[in-house]
Amino acid sequence: MRFDTSNRSAAMESRVSAFFEREVLPRHRDWVEQVMRQGRPADFLPALRDKARAEGLWNLALPALGDDEPGTRLTNLEFAPLAEIMGKLPWGSQVFNCQAPDVPNMAMLQALATPEQKARWLDPLLDGTTRSAFAMTEPDVASSDASNIATRLDFDGDSIRINGRKWFATGGAHPDCSFLIVMGISDPDNARTARQSMVLVPTDTPGLTVTRELSYLGWEDHVAPIAQIELNDVIVPAENLLGERGRGFKGAQVRLGPARIHHAMRCIGLAEMLVELMIVRARERTAFGRAVIDYDTIQRWIGEARVDIDMNRLAIQRCAWLLDQGGDTASWRPVSMIKVSVPNMLQKIADRALQIFGAMGGLDDLPIHHAFAYARWFRIGDGPDEVHLRQIFRSEPQPGWSLADSPYLAVPAGTGPMRSAAE
Ligand SMILES: Cc1cc2nc3c(=O)[nH]c(=O)nc-3n(C[C@H](O)[C@H](O)[C@H](O)COP(=O)(O)OP(=O)(O)OC[C@H]3O[C@@H](n4cnc5c(N)ncnc54)[C@H](O)[C@@H]3O)c2cc1C
Repeated sequence: MRFDTSNRSAAMESRVSAFFEREVLPRHRDWVEQVMRQGRPADFLPALRDKARAEGLWNLALPALGDDEPGTRLTNLEFAPLAEIMGKLPWGSQVFNCQAPDVPNMAMLQALATPEQKARWLDPLLDGTTRSAFAMTEPDVASSDASNIATRLDFDGDSIRINGRKWFATGGAHPDCSFLIVMGISDPDNARTARQSMVLVPTDTPGLTVTRELSYLGWEDHVAPIAQIELNDVIVPAENLLGERGRGFKGAQVRLGPARIHHAMRCIGLAEMLVELMIVRARERTAFGRAVIDYDTIQRWIGEARVDIDMNRLAIQRCAWLLDQGGDTASWRPVSMIKVSVPNMLQKIADRALQIFGAMGGLDDLPIHHAFAYARWFRIGDGPDEVHLRQIFRSEPQPGWSLADSPYLAVPAGTGPMRSAAE
């Protein structure tokens, strides 16, 4: 297992870092003013994206499936430090066409779509001329168990009729979102995990309505606004089936690896940003005759943040390396581990940053509230903590001995407090 950066990765990291410092960070104030406060698209963003693209800093997050595949074909391990840099700001990834949920959707299209589907749906995403959303979760069923999904996909000759309700479709409320990938039940009589299929649905199809835009903890996702959606007798051609019929559950796994690990990488960037803010603020504030930074509690919080960040970064790198070895199955456990560990880390650090900043911390003048909301939703989205922990528990090796026969029990068999299994 090697985590040292390749020359290619180190060069890319310094280019992304330089671009971020020079072109992106100085526009953050404008972005907040235009997008968050005035609720309109950032007027400078298209030109900034063109510039990033012209410098070759575009589609950096796509998996390296082969030499003829699109994007820069960096490995997950190579992309990790770049995602970290972009993740420092809510809109950083968008500059480089590396934003969620489009990248995991691109990865899924790359892996499952037919050549015709790629030309129609994937190419515009790669080009940055459209946006997309993934609609699995439903208000009416516990969606952490995806086999509960109830939206109907009824195949009828050359077409598919869709009926159901979806919510928390990130990106679905963006005006540029031109299609959804809808997960539904196509074969209700099949085994529990072979009933689902995925269908590509243009957002302008009659019967499809975005009923409202959702915010989470009062936080709006300005890059990929979240939608609640009604699908009433929506009809699409059967050729819009993505992947095999009845294999939707399996197909969706393709996007979950990249989705989870990229969010985790961005969380590290946010945590680093918070530590910088915490130090600067605590250095500049004096309370009860001392700089806040001189209090033991504050120093301990910053020290603990460093330990937590570095440990979680290493866990992400290991996970990225395993994914790069092609081990989707072998890497689900490390993916689940970082999926639990990283947002909990970020939540703790964001909570402490909120505390150090006093009342100011909760204002949307600073990205602390964004980091907190990001951590909190990521503990639920893409599978709640409890679901991942249960899976990790279930894969835990079971010792083959009883306690009475335990090699750790320091009394001879038969004389201790318990009888040996052999007695
Ligand atoms: C900001 C945000 C963005 C999202 N983006 C998307 C998106 O783009 N597309 C999409 O389809 N979905 C999206 N989601 C939805 C997300 O994936 C679901 O909320 C998640 O899978 C949980 O489903 P649920 O809300 O129905 O919770 P439920 O399934 O009702 O679960 C509620 C709680 O029950 C408990 N629980 C469930 N199972 C177990 C278990 N096995 N053991 C112990 N406890 C358990 C957990 O505490 C869990 O949090 C998003 C969610 C948020 C908050």
